[in-house]
Amino acid sequence: MKVKLKPGDTLLYYSRLFMVPLDLIIDSNPGIDPKNPPVGKEVKIPGVSMQSYPNRVTNAVVNHMEKYDSSILHRDLANLEELYPFIKVKSIGKSVLGNPIPEIKIGSGRTKKININASFHANEWITTSVLMRFVNDYLLALTNCHSLNGLFMLPYYQSVELSIVPMVNPDGVNLVLNGPPKALREELVNMNKGRHEFTAWKANIRGVDLNNQFPAKWEIEKGRKEPKEPASRDYPGDTPLSEPEAVAMAELVQLEQFDRLIALHTQGSEFYWGYEGLEAPESTIIAKEFERVSGYKAVQYVDSHAGFKDWFIQEFRKPGFTIELGKGINPLPLSQFQQIYEKVLPIMLAALYT
Ligand SMILES: [Zn+2]
Repeated sequence: MKVKLKPGDTLLYYSRLFMVPLDLIIDSNPGIDPKNPPVGKEVKIPGVSMQSYPNRVTNAVVNHMEKYDSSILHRDLANLEELYPFIKVKSIGKSVLGNPIPEIKIGSGRTKKININASFHANEWITTSVLMRFVNDYLLALTNCHSLNGLFMLPYYQSVELSIVPMVNPDGVNLVLNGPPKALREELVNMNKGRHEFTAWKANIRGVDLNNQFPAKWEIEKGRKEPKEPASRDYPGDTPLSEPEAVAMAELVQLEQFDRLIALHTQGSEFYWGYEGLEAPESTIIAKEFERVSGYKAVQYVDSHAGFKDWFIQEFRKPGFTIELGKGINPLPLSQFQQIYEKVLPIMLAALYT
């Protein structure tokens, strides 16, 4: 919410009054000089709403039990931005159908930049719910100064810049959850081998598997993948980076030069952390910690190329991880959410502190 600056008020005074860390108030009001705030100007107080005033909001905006399509994502992002103005939301590109692909940035830190992304694969959309719930829990812990799994978040806010891309493949997720758009129905049913049921669809809306699109021995993957034309899954495209969603992710990584990268997928309760012996030495330590805190099995190499984390490791030689959440047949049911979240939250926290 906003308050009007009265004579003598300072941002530090508001920090004490609302018990919200000063850093968060300063970052929510980039146009205001904290030492000399102009009287009459409106100041945004993060984590306090008109309804909760004068107390802080303690409940989540994100309802992880919803079927999390792109319209729900945009609704939640707008609400989170309003309530926590120190986060920055922007679009890093557009999907085939013109849906924006949002990125959330949290943290003022420059010592470590971490990207966490979800829903590369359409039928793995539960990963978006998991990631958005993490974002919301992080913001609640920050503004309420309480711990998340025993860790206080403010020091991480100050040292780490988190880049969150919660839905890389919005067209695909919408297709799985809401069915095909009318104009594309026939084309999509054909690509889906005549099936009208789209819950198992993994690719983007053009039938390209976005996690087979990256220039890391793409030709090998192209040669051995079964589908030779667009399909519900596994088709690597006509060329690497032919799809706008994959391009958006590649450009983001090139621009931001992340120190580490975590790609959330389902399923298998394990994670992959190597590629062709090119992985950074510190990946071993991080992988051990991920395994310890989650119980998920650390797998160094799998016989696979052209994935996002493969390309990230190859190009930047920094730690990159593909985490396969949960166990079962995709799409995993929401009844698994809590169980999955309990395993994955410690992994995301370990990415901050390792
Ligand atoms: Zn996947």
